[in-house]
Amino acid sequence: MAEYSALSILKNALSGNRHWKPAWRKPDPKPSYDVIVIGGGGHGLSTAYYLAKEHGITNVAVLEKGYLGSGNVGRNTTAVRSNYLLPENIRFYEQSMKLWENLSHDLNYNVMFSQRGVLNLAHTPAQLDDYARRGNAMRHLDADAELMTPEQIARLVPGIDMSRSARFPIVGGLMQRRAGTARHDAVAWGYARGADRRGVDILENCAVTGFLREGDRVVGVATTRGEIRAKKVAVAVAGSTGHVLRMAGIERLPIESHVLQAFVSESLKPFLDTVVTFGMGHFYMGQSDKGGLVYGGDLDGYNSYAQRGGLPIVEEVMSEMLALFPSLAPVRVLRSWGGVCDMSMDGSPIITTGPLPGMYLNCGWCYGGFKATPISGWCFAWTIAKNAPHELNASFTLDRFHRGLVIDDKGQGATPRLH
Ligand SMILES: Cc1cc2nc3c(=O)[nH]c(=O)nc-3n(C[C@H](O)[C@H](O)[C@H](O)COP(=O)(O)OP(=O)(O)OC[C@H]3O[C@@H](n4cnc5c(N)ncnc54)[C@H](O)[C@@H]3O)c2cc1C
Repeated sequence: MAEYSALSILKNALSGNRHWKPAWRKPDPKPSYDVIVIGGGGHGLSTAYYLAKEHGITNVAVLEKGYLGSGNVGRNTTAVRSNYLLPENIRFYEQSMKLWENLSHDLNYNVMFSQRGVLNLAHTPAQLDDYARRGNAMRHLDADAELMTPEQIARLVPGIDMSRSARFPIVGGLMQRRAGTARHDAVAWGYARGADRRGVDILENCAVTGFLREGDRVVGVATTRGEIRAKKVAVAVAGSTGHVLRMAGIERLPIESHVLQAFVSESLKPFLDTVVTFGMGHFYMGQSDKGGLVYGGDLDGYNSYAQRGGLPIVEEVMSEMLALFPSLAPVRVLRSWGGVCDMSMDGSPIITTGPLPGMYLNCGWCYGGFKATPISGWCFAWTIAKNAPHELNASFTLDRFHRGLVIDDKGQGATPRLH
């Protein structure tokens, strides 16, 4: 498959753009593979890519029930950051940031990674102290963080209500400048193309409907395109984790599926060159390259597998937006949608061998798995190839809930909507 380059753009332009090849093949399923990855989202595709690239395992199939990008990888609001408090999370997400910084080159695909920064607003002195603590923890582990004064914020974020009479006055903020956004579809397509180029079969419209077992061991899957056997079966289905694992007889997981909505406004002239998060509720907003404001808030608050949400959250998100940016009141919402998030009980992911022999599990991404796409796939590929976790995901086990070794970054306990 051809390299994408300035020269290839020129050559194709001169020949009327009639000779571009599809970015990945559409093969039929083989009877067996070394590894099957269930789920053609960001994590499944990056896992297949790194299995091939880092471990030379290319007899791999990614099974996707719909089309690539139909899940959360194409539904998220694209924020990428590593601004956590606990060392397990900082190390993991900071390594992801390093992969993001070279991802377009690595994939030979422009994922439009834009390090425009993520700013967490503080509305009380106590909150600012808390941010200082988190910033120090980040800097201690080589992630970047800086505290910002209200004057700096007013300069960086035009239109934000900095008045003392605001409902929640802004007293400062925690900025991570290397954080930012990336184009989510391009991430799915770039990993798909990269995996395909190394020999991975990407099988779309291929839903897994059951697991093939020999005793306890998983030896393959039943799908809508027939049975496929495999030495190893890896599950990376995000919001569908409970549903898929039930097919293997696993009824209870420390995961709940919840709807999270996102919103895009009509296009405005560029004014917001960073991602801002509200400190007194769950609201965040950035501006896309096309000018639309991209924003979101809290979970809908009930368990669901529907990829759409309800009006109460719409009202809440809009009111939080106007608390920060009153001048945006006349701006119209262009579209909104929902995605099903796999909320873990401590807010941290699970990347592990098991829970059955021959099976590997990747889930628990909550609101924040897009930014983990590179490192999640990298660590999951390692875990599958070596039958053991890498040190970066060694703590992200399934049995940590059983053993009381939770990784609860916000200290909120087992309440998904607070993570
Ligand atoms: C509205 C919204 C905003 C978000 N914003 C951010 C953000 O700003 N930053 C951030 O870091 N994260 C964000 N996230 C979270 C992030 O999108 C997810 O954590 C991440 O995309 C999950 O991993 P994935 O890409 O592999 O999931 P998905 O893309 O959902 O992939 C899972 C795939 O599995 C497939 N599948 C399910 N069942 C089967 C089956 N039986 N057989 C075959 N295939 C199956 C699905 O069709 C799906 O394509 C957001 C999520 C939502 C919904």
